[in-house]
Amino acid sequence: MKLVSVAISVPLRRTFDYALGEIEPGRLLPGVRVRVPFGRREQIGVVLEPPREVGEPEFECRPVTAVLDETPLLDAELLALCRWAADYYHHPLGEVLATALPGPLRHGKAAPSTAAPTLLSLTAAGSVALPDLPARSAALRAVLEKLGEGALSRATLLEAQPKAAAAIRRALERGWIGHVAAAGGAELRILETPPPLTAEQTAALEALRAAPPGYAATLLEGVTGSGKTEIYLQLTADALAAGKQVLVLAPEIGLTPQLAERFERRFGARVASYHSGLSDNERARNWMRARRGEVDVLVGTRSAVFLPLARPGLLIIDEEHDVSYKQQEGLRYAARDLALIRAQRLRIPAVLGSATPALESRHNAAAGRYRHLRLQQRVFTAAGPRIGVIDMRAQPLQHGLSTPVLEGVERHLAGGGQALLFLNRRGYAPALLCHDCGWVAPCPNCDARMTLHRARRRLICHHCGHSVPMPLACPDCGGTELVPVGQGTERVEDSLRLRFPGRRIERFDSDRLGRAGELERLLADVRRGAIDILVGTQVLAKGHDFAGLSFAGVLDVDQALYGSDFRALERMGQLVTQVAGRVGRKGQPGEVLLQTHQPEHPLLRILVQEGYPAFCEALLRERREFGLPPFGYLALLRAEARQEGEALAFLRQARELMPENSGVEALGPAPAGMARRAGYHRAQLLLRGASRSALHRLLERWLAAIETLPAAKRLRWSVDVDPADLF
Ligand code: ADP
Ligand code: ZN
Ligand code: ZN
Repeated sequence: MKLVSVAISVPLRRTFDYALGEIEPGRLLPGVRVRVPFGRREQIGVVLEPPREVGEPEFECRPVTAVLDETPLLDAELLALCRWAADYYHHPLGEVLATALPGPLRHGKAAPSTAAPTLLSLTAAGSVALPDLPARSAALRAVLEKLGEGALSRATLLEAQPKAAAAIRRALERGWIGHVAAAGGAELRILETPPPLTAEQTAALEALRAAPPGYAATLLEGVTGSGKTEIYLQLTADALAAGKQVLVLAPEIGLTPQLAERFERRFGARVASYHSGLSDNERARNWMRARRGEVDVLVGTRSAVFLPLARPGLLIIDEEHDVSYKQQEGLRYAARDLALIRAQRLRIPAVLGSATPALESRHNAAAGRYRHLRLQQRVFTAAGPRIGVIDMRAQPLQHGLSTPVLEGVERHLAGGGQALLFLNRRGYAPALLCHDCGWVAPCPNCDARMTLHRARRRLICHHCGHSVPMPLACPDCGGTELVPVGQGTERVEDSLRLRFPGRRIERFDSDRLGRAGELERLLADVRRGAIDILVGTQVLAKGHDFAGLSFAGVLDVDQALYGSDFRALERMGQLVTQVAGRVGRKGQPGEVLLQTHQPEHPLLRILVQEGYPAFCEALLRERREFGLPPFGYLALLRAEARQEGEALAFLRQARELMPENSGVEALGPAPAGMARRAGYHRAQLLLRGASRSALHRLLERWLAAIETLPAAKRLRWSVDVDPADLF
């Protein structure tokens, strides 16, 4: 009889065999989805190989219930990539495939019908009507003005102006805008004239174009505003002219609309985006458009690395150092690493862009695995900013703001510039303290304090989301003098409002930017110069270009200097460099001030005095000394359980099962950095291999052994290959 092997999205590291029943073997092609019985329910699975002839199987196999696709949904390349990821991350293949598919397809819905997206463009009647629009037609005006700069797809327009749906409809009815076909490969036109390249850009582009066809990885290091995106656009033009597709990864949803917009404007190209901000149906449609080759440029976040590509030509990973590329749950993949593997397997070039490349990438470039190209200068400004360090030990504090920082803001605002204050902590204050007895509001579920959100009058735990109304009195002693301790962005914003009345101050953090399109709207206000002071978390550290910014204060560098994670310093250096790279206006160098209680910290001094490359060299020396990545290969076995001690006990048993002389060292087990979170006690066991292959050989055998432990079925545990942090 014949059996077919199917991957199902369940947490088991194996595949499942099914009989064919009434089904024609020829329909069970690899990559086709099937409905199969599983336990007492049915599941959607993916066929992995053509049915194979077996003798009588040892136990009875149930038959496949239904075949869902006439042609494979996943092509051979994507299927192989998923297999590679399942092997490398030691994760069940069925769950990897589920990660690669958008929700509706994962759940067995029919592949949606699609068509190439069209673009909206301003008509002659629209240009005539625009100047005479009455003031109350603001939304309509905004739509016409935006399209006046170049055609855009409805999706991209709505990402920039989320409330524009009605205005778009009205403009279409009146004939002020119309649909035009987006350009595909062959009939590609350059709509927007590219600027003449700077000497640095020309050199970089020539080097990229000179590469022989096939796989090559290039690290393009250049500050924000140095023209990296312009290089992506020109490389994309080459790929599109050759009839190929381009996949562009960005670390954040907030960065994808701007990118999509630039590609649409330049080429009128068929662009689709892919990120969690889209509806399930849009995701499924764009996934199928990529699969069917109906779009040429795909712009997306982490999970877009799994988009099927009908005609792959180029992979671009923007802000390649960003930690958001690492998924921190389920399949813990690193999209940058996976993108490189994919490019290698597809034999196409990959470009990694960043102002602050990850240590790993710099190391790979130094070792000759990547070509290293640099753009040292911003297109519009010359000198880099002056960076100063403020010794906070000697400073009177005003809500976490030192006098030099406040004066700096004042000076630069007076000079017509904008100021940015960076603090990676949202809320009003990270703790609420009773002045009478010293009680500090704890989270009942975590080893953590509750953060005060004063505007909402609540205490919220940032680790589990637990939220309670702000207490009026201390639950321990009844005292009513409850004092917020420390600073969050909300508090900094409040104190700036008192200090700078009449200035427009906006906060950029996930509390403030909840609504779709809010970030885009605020960024547009920043660019028009309508916002004077920006206060924000890492949202502001990503690749947004602010032309008017002349001052930045990094309020708490110490968070990283004291941070217990081995990557904390690298991230601090990236942050400071990224923030500094945003500062300085046309012809005017900017100013950056770093607040710290450790001005003598050797690495901080190297960063400030010698710059990011020297800082990275110093960090790499440390990493080499301690055998940390990229000089050692890590995996982290995590476990968590309701009962105290259970997770640790499980990891001890697991450690007992570790094969001897594997070339892999086990450190721990030990309680996790935060030993209790969301009601779970957490522990971890760190593995360090001198070579990647030794680590993977060990994991392969050892995980199979761990799975047989009775405790393995009772508690939650996972393996994290190349962990981004050790918490
Ligand atoms: P990055 O991606 O490094 O942040 P961009 O490519 O976005 O840099 O360039 C920053 C700004 O400079 C953009 O507004 C872009 O249109 C413009 N720009 C890029 N290259 C040139 C050039 N050669 N001449 C003029 N303007 C340019
Ligand atoms: Zn008290
Ligand atoms: Zn909590």
